[in-house]
Amino acid sequence: ASQTIAEQDHGIDSHDISHASYKTIEQLQRAGYEAYLVGGGVRDLLLDADPKDFDVATSATPEQVRKVFRNARIIGKRFRIVHVRFGREIIEVTTFRGSHTDARSSRDASQSDTGVLLRDNVYGDIKSDAMRRDFTINALYYNPINGEVLDFCGGLKDLKNRTIRIIGDPEERYKEDPVRLLRAARFAGKLGFNIDPVTEKPIREHADYLAHIPSARLFEEVLKLFMSGQATATLNKLRDYDLFKYLFPATNHCLDHGTDFDRRLVEQATINTDKRIRQGKRITPAFIYAAFLWSPLQASMRPLIQDQKMSPQEAMLQASQGIISQQLACTAIPKRFLIPMRDIWQLQLRLPRRDRGKAYATLEHQRFRAGYDFLLLREEAGENVEGLGDWWTKFQFAPEEEREAMIAQIA
Ligand code: ATP
Ligand code: MG
Repeated sequence: ASQTIAEQDHGIDSHDISHASYKTIEQLQRAGYEAYLVGGGVRDLLLDADPKDFDVATSATPEQVRKVFRNARIIGKRFRIVHVRFGREIIEVTTFRGSHTDARSSRDASQSDTGVLLRDNVYGDIKSDAMRRDFTINALYYNPINGEVLDFCGGLKDLKNRTIRIIGDPEERYKEDPVRLLRAARFAGKLGFNIDPVTEKPIREHADYLAHIPSARLFEEVLKLFMSGQATATLNKLRDYDLFKYLFPATNHCLDHGTDFDRRLVEQATINTDKRIRQGKRITPAFIYAAFLWSPLQASMRPLIQDQKMSPQEAMLQASQGIISQQLACTAIPKRFLIPMRDIWQLQLRLPRRDRGKAYATLEHQRFRAGYDFLLLREEAGENVEGLGDWWTKFQFAPEEEREAMIAQIA
């Protein structure tokens, strides 16, 4: 049963939404189309949280949307949307999606033989658009012009009861798009909600659907899972539902069979990431990846050093190739993150070497800060680094003569 909630009854103020999204909706409506704010933006406003982005859904087709704005371009193929630009802000505008049984041709919609959605460009009305979204709490529509919220799937009730509920038949919806398995865990972690039992039950059973998702898409999901301020809670949910192993198989193995240190390192990495986000500090996926893959890297270096008598440097070089290529098969890592990740690892071998030449060179290293943070992380996770963390903390800020004295003491 659909429901309309008037402005005075839901607590969202049209001033809470970004100016750009308000203008986008206003101009689409003036041009004679329906247009609403939808998705995470509406959900977060109703929860009194700060939305990350504002998405707009409309009855206008992508071509029609483009004609309404000066600064708009159509992007995407599998799922066509329009980016409307207002100054520095970009609003994603999506045309109402329809049911696939209405598809005119395979150019608009197609599924693989296992039921995975390959193309989703069948248009429909607001009701069918709501039914194609993932969870009820993500299918609420807000019209900032008249102040109404529209609810076609019981999302408001679920929001009140803090429940994640998939729309439609869970098995079918997970099969259509297995990333929804990760999204269920993500929203449960991020919002601290419970997953409704019917939505929850197939998750573990069908986790293996994730094995067929392109690695580039999984990388995008990894960013959303671990870089939005709730990495610790999200990791726990992913582990609870046996989903983590499809993202980080080697890490998952270390969590199951490794030492306490292995577990604490991963957990502390998520705690530190969440904390940095709260403090408004810069974060990079390279650091999380470096931490998640550190124990697998150490395990694969060990026999190279002990049995094959390689130097730690050689062993790291060789072991990292295997670890990285195994990880790339699951989640693609763009080069701009791979290089700093390796640098963070290599710095761990350089930081103990503190004769005059090396100490200053390491301090000048482009990635010194990340490498130093990683050293502190290892220490926080319980590794005995023999005062190395303190040494570098002091050395960084010490005046010239004190630095010289510190180096002399080591030599
Ligand atoms: P966040 O706050 O993390 O951005 P969000 O709910 O806005 O959360 P997005 O990935 O930005 O998530 O997606 C926007 C909206 O698009 C969702 O709220 C949901 O309605 C819809 N959506 C996104 N991904 C899917 C999917 N895989 N299947 C169905 N609907 C989806
Ligand atoms: Mg969003």
